[in-house]
Amino acid sequence: KSFEDNRVLKDITFYIRNNEFITLLGPSGCGKSTTLRIIAGFETADSGEVTFEGENLLKVPAHKRHINTVFQRYALFPHLNVFDNVAFGLHLKKVPEKEVKERVSKALATVGLEGYEKRYIDQLSGGQMQRVAIARAIINKPRVLLLDEPLGALDLKMRKEMQIELKQMQRELGITFVYVTHDQEEALTMSDTIIVMKDGIIQQIGTPKILYQRPANLFVATFIGRTNVINAELKVKNGKTMLALPGYEVEMNNILKDEAKDRKVIASIRPEELVVKKDATEGIKATVDDAVFLGLNTHYFVHFENGERAEIIQESLIDSIIEKGTEIYLGVKTEKINVFDEEGNKNLVEGVLNDYDVYRNGDK
Ligand code: ADP
Ligand code: MG
Repeated sequence: KSFEDNRVLKDITFYIRNNEFITLLGPSGCGKSTTLRIIAGFETADSGEVTFEGENLLKVPAHKRHINTVFQRYALFPHLNVFDNVAFGLHLKKVPEKEVKERVSKALATVGLEGYEKRYIDQLSGGQMQRVAIARAIINKPRVLLLDEPLGALDLKMRKEMQIELKQMQRELGITFVYVTHDQEEALTMSDTIIVMKDGIIQQIGTPKILYQRPANLFVATFIGRTNVINAELKVKNGKTMLALPGYEVEMNNILKDEAKDRKVIASIRPEELVVKKDATEGIKATVDDAVFLGLNTHYFVHFENGERAEIIQESLIDSIIEKGTEIYLGVKTEKINVFDEEGNKNLVEGVLNDYDVYRNGDK
């Protein structure tokens, strides 16, 4: 898909399973909304196809697709009350009033707005308005609901509540949700499957766990969750592949055969996977710059001997917080390390699921 000379979607290929909560995740401008709008029929594709249970969707007008959309801006009618907003489509279709009442009641119950029928839109909070918009979108029982940053206008607390509720609603309704967000935490909270996009290109498709544990490239590693990015080297010695981290070498027995050679690499280690070794004399050498006690966990900010900084999350020990300036040794299980080429384009570890490998392998 291009807008004039600007190609905004390139090689976008993915499947959506029935009843799946699937999320398009990526920074602003990466093409999430455009992808959604093509599925909805609000935007045309220059090439390629979109099929729904084998049927070519691009030939079906938007209003005849079994798809409905919820936008960030609620697009509600301010001069109508909640009931009439939700009933709007049914009234247009001249559905008998008794049935309208039943269906509106059921939809409002689903979104937690029983008893709000008579309220006017301007008497509602942002969260309630979005609930009305969702009730209106599900009233016709669409097979697929497209949601484009629907919680973007809500404050953080309301957003967190709605995330959990939306996921529950999706399960109860048995409707496939295709969700768009730039917020990785939101994507992790709600999704069965996440499609990570950047610059109109899919970076990786997978479950939240797969993306967190085995990101396909450095972009995915840093976009999803927090991680320590460490300049390192691979060294092959006596048939063993060693990863040279600051002040310490660990054996990596899971590097792809063709990639295991002497080279510069980028290692990525999650803060909770670096473990402070007690009374140790070897490990990744680091010096504590700061310790932040957060109850259950303590965050340590450290630097390595090469000057690179890192963050460590440890369960708080009952008696001691490690003081600033202390030299410590860190351990890490090698299977928790991801190793990328020097450009960060490729994960060199075996068994990284990418594109729709996840689907082919039936992993879910
Ligand atoms: P996202 O939803 O991920 O933030 P969009 O799909 O809205 O991204 O936009 C992708 C790119 O396409 C952006 O560079 C945006 O400026 C451009 N774009 C989107 N819609 C139009 C349009 N109607 N005309 C021209 N450019 C557009
Ligand atoms: Mg958008």
